[in-house]
Amino acid sequence: MSNRVLIITGNTSDAATLEDVLESAQDGPFLIEWVTSLAQALQRLEAHNKQPIDAIMVDLDLPDSQGLATFDKLFVLASSIPILTLSTLEDDQQTWEVIQRGAQGCLSKGHFSSYLVPQSLRNIIQRKAVEEALFVEKARAALTLNSISDAVISTDIQGNVDYLNSAAKQMTGWLFEDAQGLPIDQVMRLVNVTTRESVANPIFKVLKDDACKLLASGTVLVRRDGSESAIEDSVAPIHDSAGHLKGAVMVFHDMTATHAMTEKMAHLAQHDALTNLPNRALLNDRINQAIALAERSGSSLALLFLDLDNFKHINDSLGHGVGDHLLQAVALRLSDCVRSSDTVSRLGGDEFVVLLSESQSAEDAARTAEKILSTLAASFSIGQQQLHITASIGISTYPNDATVAEGLIKNADTAMYRAKEEGRNNYQFFHQEMNIHAVERQLIEAHLRTAMENSEFIIHYQPKIDLQSGKITSAEALLRWQHPAWGMILPARFIPVAEACGLIVPLGRWVLLQACGQAKRWENCGYQLDSVAVNISALEFRRKDFVDSVESALRVTGLDPKNLQLEITESVLMRDAQASATILQQLKALGVELAVDDFGTGYSSLSYLSQFPIDVLKIDQSFVQDIHNSNGIIVSAVIAMGNSLKQRVIAEGIEDSGQLDFLRTHHCSEGQGFLFSRPVSAHDFANLLRSGISSPINTLHQAARSLG
Ligand code: C2E
Ligand code: MG
Ligand code: MG
Repeated sequence: MSNRVLIITGNTSDAATLEDVLESAQDGPFLIEWVTSLAQALQRLEAHNKQPIDAIMVDLDLPDSQGLATFDKLFVLASSIPILTLSTLEDDQQTWEVIQRGAQGCLSKGHFSSYLVPQSLRNIIQRKAVEEALFVEKARAALTLNSISDAVISTDIQGNVDYLNSAAKQMTGWLFEDAQGLPIDQVMRLVNVTTRESVANPIFKVLKDDACKLLASGTVLVRRDGSESAIEDSVAPIHDSAGHLKGAVMVFHDMTATHAMTEKMAHLAQHDALTNLPNRALLNDRINQAIALAERSGSSLALLFLDLDNFKHINDSLGHGVGDHLLQAVALRLSDCVRSSDTVSRLGGDEFVVLLSESQSAEDAARTAEKILSTLAASFSIGQQQLHITASIGISTYPNDATVAEGLIKNADTAMYRAKEEGRNNYQFFHQEMNIHAVERQLIEAHLRTAMENSEFIIHYQPKIDLQSGKITSAEALLRWQHPAWGMILPARFIPVAEACGLIVPLGRWVLLQACGQAKRWENCGYQLDSVAVNISALEFRRKDFVDSVESALRVTGLDPKNLQLEITESVLMRDAQASATILQQLKALGVELAVDDFGTGYSSLSYLSQFPIDVLKIDQSFVQDIHNSNGIIVSAVIAMGNSLKQRVIAEGIEDSGQLDFLRTHHCSEGQGFLFSRPVSAHDFANLLRSGISSPINTLHQAARSLG
């Protein structure tokens, strides 16, 4: 495409010559536009965008403007167009001035060579185009460099700063004006984060070796104001087009945020998100460290495995939100109970492990366990609720109980189970026998799972006796496990295992159904029996479908609800008295009788007890058997209390006639115990129903009758 040239001159002859020369140029004609005044020229330039002009040739002496003023006015509109002035040879001074002001060159009037003029025009047009492209490229590069978050600093071959982008200004705290020309190590002070020694700026090394380098890790940049940030960088040499080293450029970025994120990730990997306590992984580390230390110094350490009692119930009844807050509050209290050198960790759920790393003796560990139990005893305010929680703690020690972390945790866990069995809210030291016990539990659990299908369970019945008339009032169903190899197993050995693994639920349902069915059959045979009594475990009692399962057992067997007595232990009822009251009301609404089993062992709140719809209090056998030693103070108090609450009182575990006499004298309504009968099979129980119990009461009656 031809270049368009605007010729501005009032000299017709010059214009004609130039037109001539340019239109017949050897390497292709130019398009010529000719105007004779500055005014016309400016008018034409207004339309430059519509029809661009590639070059201007101007005679500075025009009819309407003369000298440098002509150039200046023209340049306002035409700064992006290359301009050649037409001057006389004597105008050296003016020529120099217009070049200073931005003109590309000058042609001497009267010397318009047909070779030089087109050539000069082509040159300036090309140069202007290159300049323009370079400008755009530079602008783009500057914009890019200033908008990236990486800092960029470059230096000359001596290592003196010749460029800083915005990020570099921000990170070093230096303005370009201040930094320009200064040695790089003055603008970028580098030190090692740990040794605090200064680190040589890698730019010097790059300039020396003419090869790329990285900054040593752990380097921090000291800003102009003295503040610091960790940085990571790379430095590369800069070469000119001939490949000669001209300087170096360093690109670096702030690692502070990355470091903070790395630290956060590491923390998360080792801590429990809910409580921020060390998790199992970190605990293991700490135990291993403590073991290594104890090994060297010959000292000991202790591990406390803590499990909250009945936490699941709080979670289920009050919601996970409350449960989570409680766990956080417990975590805080636990941390307050130990030294800063100890570790409190959460393994998950309601399980915590405390590592006492400088524990000198078992007494120390016991003291800490006691402190924890008493600290947890104070009520927790969670939202609107006042919550009470206890914990069971197992303790294992190094090197006595185990010499590796895993063993210590496992043994402390085993001891914690013992604490649960011992009635919760206590601590137990690990003993090797517990492991035997733990193994036995596992064995029992495995066998329990098949025992139901194999019909290995049977129910024995123990009579409850009216202590005045000697008549059998009720039959307590007591579960027995007839194991093909181990023989008869009593509930104490397998019920806690069945409770722990949940098997008690189907098992309890089976007992309920069997007992109700048996009572109905006895009724059909014409035997007189007020009720059959069935023991209910904590797990069954708290289940949402428990009331339904009782109702269904009654419906299926056709037993009148009033002929079923449910025995629930005092400790189960009191664990969450409010919830218990609701369940008891629902059961009462079915029409069944309710008995508190093992009464006297469960720290009853008497105010609750008076509100529960209870029919029967069963005095725990330990009090009955203690009658001789204690003068029966507790037993007589319970009888009096039951009478005033209009509850029948049954004494459990009557073994001798002395106990019986005492109970009768104190108007205890019913009794149960080996003195009358051990628990017997359903068949033998039917015989008892038929023949009556030959007990001291009947003997007494007979004696009274024969005397009378
Ligand atoms: P419990 O309900 O307090 O039952 C009374 C326990 O005392 C029975 O033990 C009974 O054999 C025993 N006993 C009765 N009279 C005497 C006596 O004069 N002297 C002595 N020393 N003991 C006497 P057993 O059958 O071994 O049951 C123990 C516990 O197991 C029961 O205590 C009850 O809590 C639980 N249990 C038994 N059967 C079941 C069941 O089907 N379901 C549930 N959940 N628990 C059951
Ligand atoms: Mg019972
Ligand atoms: Mg009992």
